[in-house]
Amino acid sequence: MQTNTPLPTSADLHAPQTGPDLRHRQLLDGPWWQARIPAWSDASEATFHDPKWQIRNSVRKVSQMRDLLGDRASEAFLQEVDEAIRKAPMVMRLTPYVFSLIDWANPWEDPLRRQFIPLAREIEPNHPMSKLDSLGEQRDAPVPGLVHRYPDKVLFLALDVCPVYCRFCTRSYAIGSDTDAVDKISLGASNARWEQAFEYLRNTPQVEDVVVSGGDAYLLSAGKLQVIFDNLLAIPHIRRIRLATKGLAIMPQKITGDEKWLDTLTHYAQKARRQGVHIAVHTHANHPREITAATERSMAMLFERGITVRNQSVLQAGVNDDPDTMRTLVKRLSHVNVHPYYVYTHDMVPGVETLRTTLDTALEIEKAVRGSTAGFNTPTFVCDAEGGGGKRDAHSFEYYNRELGIAVFRSPNVDDTTPYFYFDPLRELSPEARRAWNHPVLRERIVQTAVEQAGFGPVH
Ligand SMILES: *Cc1c(COP(=O)(O)O)cnc(C)c1O
Ligand code: SF4
Repeated sequence: MQTNTPLPTSADLHAPQTGPDLRHRQLLDGPWWQARIPAWSDASEATFHDPKWQIRNSVRKVSQMRDLLGDRASEAFLQEVDEAIRKAPMVMRLTPYVFSLIDWANPWEDPLRRQFIPLAREIEPNHPMSKLDSLGEQRDAPVPGLVHRYPDKVLFLALDVCPVYCRFCTRSYAIGSDTDAVDKISLGASNARWEQAFEYLRNTPQVEDVVVSGGDAYLLSAGKLQVIFDNLLAIPHIRRIRLATKGLAIMPQKITGDEKWLDTLTHYAQKARRQGVHIAVHTHANHPREITAATERSMAMLFERGITVRNQSVLQAGVNDDPDTMRTLVKRLSHVNVHPYYVYTHDMVPGVETLRTTLDTALEIEKAVRGSTAGFNTPTFVCDAEGGGGKRDAHSFEYYNRELGIAVFRSPNVDDTTPYFYFDPLRELSPEARRAWNHPVLRERIVQTAVEQAGFGPVH
């Protein structure tokens, strides 16, 4: 019988350390949801870890939260959630797994709550330079949902639904249903659209690497996975395929409980290997508490089957923007055999300004993480440069003015003549700098000066 370890709180994560720090190995196990969520006090381990039960019991509405939590959630809290959801670019959807990992004794401050559930008090005005589709993905799409920005790799947005919706999603221009704030473009999993993408790939020999994303590949049926892999593995110049899913972080039960899906993935990973092609899974955990014994069990199955899993995190204020949390995350991922690949600075997505950090924060945390574990398990901190410059090493800016909160990057493999930017959140700037950004003429001057200082010459 496994013991019911209490959920570590953020206070535990900041506890002063004596002796070696082994917290990354202490994974939550046992039926933790029974004590935490009144409505699930009778849900057995078999029920809770059934992936179909996880999907069926997704939390989408404030009224559901009220029913699940009973008197554990205050009316004041639920009202703030309700108000914030009506203004958000993203609909709400959480798996029971992630819902049960939120610290409901203090949801106001909880990092997992902050990631998935908005609060009215956290709404900040957008940065004046923020925009929907801040990465310019629609502009770089030769066919709908296929982004070809870099010479040899493409991003294939296979579907537009996910088992959870992240309020900070960079693709809130397409992912999830329309909200009061945003009408979305449609990128459904239609065979006709997919065929256009495969046809483009067949005819574009320089492409060697395909990221199958969305949306979340977890929601592709075994049959749909088969269509994708059969088509991609038939294209000789494609050597690397990555399947992107947030799944391991928000519903690890799919790996242990959906045999057909896992067997399909394994079959193609092994078939690909025999062809000299590498199929890997890319996942997206942001906080060490998202990784439990359930994740460890899923990872054990994937690892044994030889399937590489890499992780991409997003740096978020109040979630993982301190060295201790990020170090624990990186070490815990490594512990369960997930390779920490990237940590992104938060994209310039509207509606989630509260979650953005400065570039400086990314640089400081990178320094604190590097050296804490194996170099090959140390993520690269990147900035997916605003305007479609692609991912740049956070340290590689040509120019960074911390007082004005503007950084300029070059991206020679995308377009060497165009400057790409990162803008720090205005909350981290002085009142004078904030005023300047809110003044159209001064704003223009700040950008021009930064571009010239970065060595681009005056822009026309
Ligand atoms: C992130 C991304 C890729 C993959 O980039 P890597 O740095 O190799 O992980 C490919 N295409 C687009 C458009 C992307 O945004
Ligand atoms: S799982 Fe990925 S694609 Fe889906 S909402 Fe979250 S960040 Fe966006």
